[in-house]
Amino acid sequence: MSVTDLPRFDMVHPESLEALCTLIHEEKERPGGVAMLAGGTDLMVEIAQTGSRSGPLPLVVDISRMAPLRGISFDAGRLRIGAATTYLEIERSGLVQQHAPLLCRMGQDVGGPTIQARGTLGGNLATSSPAADGVAAIAAYDPVIVLRSVRGERQLPLAELQTGYKQSSRAVDEVIVAVECDPPPVGSPWIWRKVGTRLAQAISKVAMGGVAVVDEGRISRFGLALASVAPVTCLMSATRAYVLENELSAVSTAGLDAAVERDVAPIDDIRSTRDYRVHCSRAVVRAFLRQLGASV
Ligand SMILES: Cc1cc2nc3c(=O)[nH]c(=O)nc-3n(C[C@H](O)[C@H](O)[C@H](O)COP(=O)(O)OP(=O)(O)OC[C@H]3O[C@@H](n4cnc5c(N)ncnc54)[C@H](O)[C@@H]3O)c2cc1C
Repeated sequence: MSVTDLPRFDMVHPESLEALCTLIHEEKERPGGVAMLAGGTDLMVEIAQTGSRSGPLPLVVDISRMAPLRGISFDAGRLRIGAATTYLEIERSGLVQQHAPLLCRMGQDVGGPTIQARGTLGGNLATSSPAADGVAAIAAYDPVIVLRSVRGERQLPLAELQTGYKQSSRAVDEVIVAVECDPPPVGSPWIWRKVGTRLAQAISKVAMGGVAVVDEGRISRFGLALASVAPVTCLMSATRAYVLENELSAVSTAGLDAAVERDVAPIDDIRSTRDYRVHCSRAVVRAFLRQLGASV
């Protein structure tokens, strides 16, 4: 498929966040709906598929250059990444490199250079795919998602945004404005692992983001999330609890593996088998705990 094969669709460019919210509210009932275009790397695939079924096409609303949705800031310990910030901008940001290096590393593994130059964190969140790399990485920082609509602004923890496979509690007329988190102190340990068929342009069999703070043989902060092992990004609550409840010297391979197995619920599909995904989940979590000093 080339760009000339795409069906023709209408596109509008609202000039402000307020105008965007009004537009997506007023147009939400139209046949085909309204779709925001950030990088377009998921949306253009959807539009091509809809066009090939002769279904009604959405009104496309370009949000890619909307200033309130763009940019990265760090203030009073809080990192804010605008939803329309691209992976390339995240990778190149000195603030992200300093405070959330895991996100820079993750960005290098999304698609290839063209996808990294266009694709955005907000688009990754909105698509609600359990294989979303950006969501697994930011989830390790326990973020809140900032949403805006004609009804005002609200902030949701990721766990409340994700409601099921490719489903979310975001209303159709709500825009993701930004993702905010309080990263651990500069220099804290982190990990990013993506297990796929090849290094680029591969959706993960399993991907994992993790951050930690270790104080005198004990882990005092532990953020962990896995992609492609459950219907939504898996926030690994049993594993987090096990690690936080035990001294590092008491973390055992059997105890850790059992916690991981309680958290993940993968399926067999064209990319992997359930059993291999469980194996990889145990292996990547153990690798992080070894990095933190546990004998597993
Ligand atoms: C070749 C290829 C390789 C890829 N590889 C990977 C990969 O390795 N890892 C990975 O995780 N993904 C991958 N993807 C998927 C895609 O690139 C990512 O999900 C990307 O982050 C989507 O962002 P986008 O800005 O392009 O979203 P868009 O395509 O612009 O939008 C996607 C959906 O989200 C909605 N949306 C976008 N922004 C907002 C917002 N701010 N508020 C509300 N709704 C919004 C849109 O309306 C649309 O429905 C790949 C895609 C392709 C085509």
